[in-house]
Amino acid sequence: MPRDPCYDILFEQVRIGPVTAPNRFYQTPHATGFGWQRPQSGAALRGVKAEGGWGVVCTEYCSIHPTSDDSPFAFLTLWDDDDIAPLALTAEAIHAHGSLAGIELWHGGAHASNRMTRLPGIAPDVQPALYHLPTTARAMDKADLRAFRGWQRDAALRAKRAGFDIIYVYAGHDYLPFQFLSRRTNHRGDAYGGSLENRARLLREMIEDTKEAVGDTCAVAVRLAVDELHGPEGITSVGEGREVIEMLADLPDLWDVNVAGALGNDSRSARFSSEGFQEENVAFVKGLTSKPVVSVGRFTSPDRMVSQIKRGVQDFIGAARPSIADPFLPAKIRDGREDEIRECIGCNICRAANNEGVGLRCTQNPTMGEEWRRGWHPERIAVYPKRETALVIGGGPAGLEAALTLGRRGLEVTLAEAGDTFGGRLLREATLPGLATWMRVRDWRLTMLAKLPNVQLFPASRMGVADVAEFGADHVVVATGSRWRRDGVGVYAIRPGTFPDALTPDDVVAGMALSGPVVIYDDEHYFMAGALAERLAQQGLQVTYVTTAAVVSCWTVLTNEQDFLQARLIRAGVRIVTLRSLNSQHKGKVMLSCVYTGREEALPCGTLVLATGRLPDDTLWHDLAAQGVRATRIGDCLAPSSIADAVHSAHRYARLLGEPDVPPRRERAPERSL
Ligand code: ADP
Ligand code: SF4
Repeated sequence: MPRDPCYDILFEQVRIGPVTAPNRFYQTPHATGFGWQRPQSGAALRGVKAEGGWGVVCTEYCSIHPTSDDSPFAFLTLWDDDDIAPLALTAEAIHAHGSLAGIELWHGGAHASNRMTRLPGIAPDVQPALYHLPTTARAMDKADLRAFRGWQRDAALRAKRAGFDIIYVYAGHDYLPFQFLSRRTNHRGDAYGGSLENRARLLREMIEDTKEAVGDTCAVAVRLAVDELHGPEGITSVGEGREVIEMLADLPDLWDVNVAGALGNDSRSARFSSEGFQEENVAFVKGLTSKPVVSVGRFTSPDRMVSQIKRGVQDFIGAARPSIADPFLPAKIRDGREDEIRECIGCNICRAANNEGVGLRCTQNPTMGEEWRRGWHPERIAVYPKRETALVIGGGPAGLEAALTLGRRGLEVTLAEAGDTFGGRLLREATLPGLATWMRVRDWRLTMLAKLPNVQLFPASRMGVADVAEFGADHVVVATGSRWRRDGVGVYAIRPGTFPDALTPDDVVAGMALSGPVVIYDDEHYFMAGALAERLAQQGLQVTYVTTAAVVSCWTVLTNEQDFLQARLIRAGVRIVTLRSLNSQHKGKVMLSCVYTGREEALPCGTLVLATGRLPDDTLWHDLAAQGVRATRIGDCLAPSSIADAVHSAHRYARLLGEPDVPPRRERAPERSL
């Protein structure tokens, strides 16, 4: 289909210093979990983005010197000439599709723990390391500053030799140049401290040095946090953030601006931000510079993108997560298929991957991170060689993904769902505060399924063993999901208990009557108990949240949501009890134990809600097996987990059907000095 002319503006070329972007789609730097150890995986991932139409594709953070070592997290390195060839793979993969390749040169300063290199960290002042105690970064003296400028210059020259078109000076997310910029972290008395002009000196020098080194052929971009969200004592978009832009207005070739402080501010999940959420902080930048500006905001709506450009908020549509959820987002708009955009749901599972030190994964896009090791492509899939039928039972995330992928491969697919509506767990979870966007997991799949004449959907169709046997499909896929446990078994408590009066999260969402005080017991540690507490507090109930962990929803530290969540519950008046396990339930109270000492205490309780482990709903699969009907379990029915894992499990099954079961390729880390 031809594209809607109202989107033409998104496909205009934009000049960035000496280079020209083919369109306005700009994949801003984002972590992949691959880093210097897995250059081929990183290159393949970025290549798919370029193929999908992102006019600019950037790398993740790339360290300029061993004093900036973020191990055990995955980061790139340009420390010596041996780093050039592996990074050239990425530049080549991006250029193969006519896009510009950007590289985010990085020094973490007091943020870098240097666990692997074991070099002392450096910072504007003596400063306890910002993440990895008990290290202390030492204050940089004149010689250090001179050396530092040389590292940036050398890394820029190497980046140019590797083929990159846009070279970053990275003064965001609390990293070294930003530590110089902010009064909060710079208390120096020399020419690099004191006035804003002095605190911005290093940033100015870095831009000038980088331009002098590579500016003849490469654009020099500055990534700047224009507001660190610490109020007037820090950089703010109405204060010093604005003044820095005024001061350096046309010095770089491009401004990549955001809100920061910690990374979590910039990539807030949908629970804590909506599309375009940074606009109020970054919109002023364009008025102060003649150079192009890019920013992010989880943009997935083409109309909102057009509005950003037309209203002069930015020149590009910056995106990290939307490009992860749909690497082909630009191509779909270009080809008039914007209804096919697989919208990011803002769950931040992708952030967790890097925080865990593993390859990137995405709830919406099961091929993300699998481009090299499994050879998966988000838009292409091998046609199944035979005319065969498949019956998929269960229409949650796994069943929908399996039906879609099998359908794309050309099988005759029937999807049977017991309920009146498709969506499975999403029908419950997306009703919780801030999680409405999660329904996109279902909606995108239903949209795509509607386009496949070889897939038939049957709601209100509970399947039993006899129905399955009678149907006689060549392939039977059981995606019947899971249910919350009622016996208290969770992460901490591994011995089943008896809690006959307790409710599960599903009971609460289904609207079962609750009497206060409500105790929500979290021995799962992901989002459920925290989200329920928030919802019940909103309804005016007296809520106590009890967890075996030290903080609320502790796994969400990895999705960069935890501190926001805990603050929200505190503000909502939820009482928080940590490091306690549940022993027993009695009339009007529950008994808890300290996880360290075992000391028991009573807690008033009208209704107990158990957010603990989940059990697979696999009765049908066992019954089929007993009758000799061959069937494959996928998703939560196989192993209850995140939605991302359910979707991946389904995709893997459907993509590998009929294919040799070979293990994914393993990338051997290149020999390096680290
Ligand atoms: P997953 O995350 O693995 O997709 P869900 O729990 O979200 O799991 O979805 C499982 C779906 O399977 C639910 O919508 C449920 O109604 C459906 N289901 C369970 N048993 C049957 C059955 N016997 N026949 C058809 N659908 C079923
Ligand atoms: Fe978006 Fe979630 Fe995918 Fe990240 S994991 S890109 S937040 S859908």
